[in-house]
Amino acid sequence: MDGTTQRRRITIEGIVQGVGFRPFVFQIARKWGISGWVRNDSRGVTVEAEGPLQKLAGFLWSLRSDIPPLASISRFELTEIPVSGESGFAILASAAGSEQGAQVAPDSTVCPDCLAELFDPADRRYRYPFINCTNCGPRYSIVTGVPYDRPLTTMAPFAMCPACRAEYDDPASRRFHAQPNACPQCGPKLQLRDASGRPLAGDPLATTAELLQAGRIVAIKGLGGYHLAVDAGNDGAVAELRRRKARDEKPFALMSAHSSAVLAYAEADDAELRLLTGFERPIVLLRQKPGHGIAPQVAPRNRYFGVMLAYTPLHHLLLESFPALVMTSANRSDEPIVYRDGEVAARLDTIADAILSHDREIETRCDDSIARIMAGQAVLLRRSRGYVPRGIFLPRPQPALLALGAELKSTICLTQEDRAFLSQHIGDLQHEEVQDSFATTIDHLQQILGVTPQLVAHDLHPDYWSTRFAEAQPLPRLAVQHHHAHLVSCLAEHGVEEETIGVVFDGIGYGSDGRIWGGEFLVGNADGFRRVGHFRELAMPGGDAATREPVRMALSLLFQAYGRDLPGLPLLERIAASRLPLYLQMIEQGLNAPLTSSCGRLFDAVAALAGIRDRVSYEGQAALELEMAAVPGPVEGYPYDVREEEGMLIFDPAALTRGIVADLQAGVAAGVISNRFHTTLAWMVAEVCALLRNASGLERVALSGGVFQNRLLTETLVPLLRRAGFSVLCHRLVPPNDGGLALGQAVIAGAHLRRLAP
Ligand code: ZN
Ligand code: ZN
Ligand code: FE
Repeated sequence: MDGTTQRRRITIEGIVQGVGFRPFVFQIARKWGISGWVRNDSRGVTVEAEGPLQKLAGFLWSLRSDIPPLASISRFELTEIPVSGESGFAILASAAGSEQGAQVAPDSTVCPDCLAELFDPADRRYRYPFINCTNCGPRYSIVTGVPYDRPLTTMAPFAMCPACRAEYDDPASRRFHAQPNACPQCGPKLQLRDASGRPLAGDPLATTAELLQAGRIVAIKGLGGYHLAVDAGNDGAVAELRRRKARDEKPFALMSAHSSAVLAYAEADDAELRLLTGFERPIVLLRQKPGHGIAPQVAPRNRYFGVMLAYTPLHHLLLESFPALVMTSANRSDEPIVYRDGEVAARLDTIADAILSHDREIETRCDDSIARIMAGQAVLLRRSRGYVPRGIFLPRPQPALLALGAELKSTICLTQEDRAFLSQHIGDLQHEEVQDSFATTIDHLQQILGVTPQLVAHDLHPDYWSTRFAEAQPLPRLAVQHHHAHLVSCLAEHGVEEETIGVVFDGIGYGSDGRIWGGEFLVGNADGFRRVGHFRELAMPGGDAATREPVRMALSLLFQAYGRDLPGLPLLERIAASRLPLYLQMIEQGLNAPLTSSCGRLFDAVAALAGIRDRVSYEGQAALELEMAAVPGPVEGYPYDVREEEGMLIFDPAALTRGIVADLQAGVAAGVISNRFHTTLAWMVAEVCALLRNASGLERVALSGGVFQNRLLTETLVPLLRRAGFSVLCHRLVPPNDGGLALGQAVIAGAHLRRLAP
C-alpha cells in the first residue's frame, strides 16, 4: 500500500512569497524524492507533489512544519488529483495576473546564516553591510509595487554581477529569487558625509566608529528611516543630542549587538528575551539595572530602557566597537522620521555631525516597533517595522474596507476577505508632513495589497483631520465612536464576536453625546454598544492647555472634592498667584473648561498632585512618570465611590482625592501614592465589572485604550478580574492605544455592511 504512487495539489496561503518558500519546497521535494512543481499565484503558493505514499507523507509533514523562518501559513488545503507520471521537480513561473493580493513580507533582521558569512573572512561578502538572503533582509520598506520582484523594489537600479545572478537563479541556493540580493561588486555602497553634505575620506564604517567614540552624533540610515546615534555610555554626547533635539524629553532607544550585552545594563526575563531576540526586533522596554553605566539622559525619570538588538548587517558591524549605542529616530520633535536621502542634510544639519548613508533607497518610511511584556505576555505599544504588513485574521470574511484611525499615533487599516492589514505607525496628524505620509501610505498599501475599498470608516470626532480626509473620499462613510472602536479592536484580534464588557481607558475620544470621553465602561461588540458606566467628569480649565499642563487638572480634581475650601498643599504654591483665581473661576463657572470623563486626565491630575509633573512635553508623559515613580509591592488602595445614576455606574474620584491629600499632608512619598492610586483603580474596575456581570450575565472583559500600556495597572487588575472568574482579553497583536484603533473601526464597518446587505 505504502508504495502506491499518488499526487496531491496543495494550496497554501499566508506569508509565503518573498520569504524563500519556493526554494524550500524545491529542497524538501528533492530530499523526499517527490516529483511535481511549485509556483506563486494570486493567493500564495500552489504545489503539486507526486510520489509513493510514504514519501509523500514525509514531504507533506515537512511542508507544514519546517517552513522558512519568515514564512507563516494561514491556509493549507490538500486535494488528491490524478497521477501524471512526470519526473523531476520544477519551480514554475508565476501564474498570470498573480501575486496581487499575496502578502508582501515585513522587513526582517539579518539571519544567522548571513551573519556567519558577514564575519567570515573567506566569504565574498565578508563585512558587506547589505548581505541578505530569502530568509532575511529588507522587504516592505523597499517594495515599490507588486508583484514582489526586483524591478519593483528600490534594488531595481542595481544590476546583479554574474556570481549574484547565479545564486539568484539557483533553486538550491539560499538566495534563489532573493530580490535584494547583492554583494560588494554589484550592490549598494556606504557613504559618509559631514553635516554640510561633503564626503568624508576613509573607510565609512571605521570613520563612523571613530566619530561616535569621540562623542559625536551620526545620522545612520537603517531599514525604514534614519537613526541618530551616539555612544550610550558618553554622558556629554547623550546630553548634547538631547539639547540639539530641542524640547524632546522622550526616552532614547538603545541598541546592542547581542542580548548578553543588554543584560549588562538591563534586566530581562525569559519572555522579554524572547521578544528582544525575535526576528521582528522591536524596541523592548526593560528594567534598568542598578549601576548600569548608561548615560542618565538616555531615559530620564524612567525605570526602563527601550532596547533593541541590531537588525541590519550594518548595525552589527558598527556595534563591534560599542556595548550599546543610542539609536533614536532621526527627526526634530514631533516630525516624522527622516527617510529620504535628499532631505536628510536639510532636516538634520543642526543635529547630526555626520551622515552615514547608502544608495539603496527607502520606499516606505517605517519606524521601529515598541513592545513590552505585561502579565507575562507581549504587548505592542507601536506596531511598525518587522510586523507591517503582516495580516491579522478576522473572525469572518468581510468586504474590502478602509479605516482611518483617529488623530494621534495614526495608523490605517485595510481589510481583504478574512484579513485586516494595519499600516506602519504614521504619526500625529496635526503635522502637515504626517498628513502627506498618511495619504501616501493609503495609496501604497491599497496598491500592494490589491484592495479597492467600498467604504471608509473614520472617527466620530468632527474636527479630526482624518475625518475631513474621509469626507473628501468618493466613498460611502461610516463614523465610529472612538471607545467602541477600541473595544472591538481588542475583540477582533481575539476572534471574539459576542457581546463583551469593555473597560476602555484613554486620553480623549469624542463621545456619542458630543462630550469628551475617556474613562468608559461599555457593553458591546461589532454590531453596537451601550455606555454603561464612566468616570465622573472633570473640568479641563483652558481646554487643550489642561492637557499640556497636568497642574491645571490637579486643581480641577481638588475643586471636585473640596469646592472652594482647598486644602493647603505645595501644589497651590506652584501655580502663579495671578492664575489661581482665574483657573478656579473657569472650573467653577465652566468657562473655557470643557468636561471630560477621561482616565488619562485623572492620571495627569494625580501625577501633578503627587508633585511628579506639572507640565508635559509629549502625550502621556505625566501618566508614564507616575507609573515609573511607583514603589513596587502590594499596598492598600484609597477609598473610592461607585454609584448608580440614571442607570449608569459612575466612578467618583472625590474620596480617592481626599485619600491622596491626607497622604501628602502626612508626608507619604510620591512613589507610595502612585502605587496606592493604581491599586484603587484596579479595585474599582473589578467592582464595576462584577456589578455589570450581575446585570448582564457577561463574564468576559476586554481591556483597551492607551491607559492599558500601563504595566502596573494591568498587572494589578488582570489577576483581580481572573480571580473573580472573568475571562480577560488584553491586546496582543495591535496596540491598546490609538495605533490599534483602525482595526476596530474596520470590523465595526464590516458588521455595518453585513446588516445593510445580509
Ligand atoms: Zn539571510
Ligand atoms: Zn554581486
Ligand atoms: Fe483612544
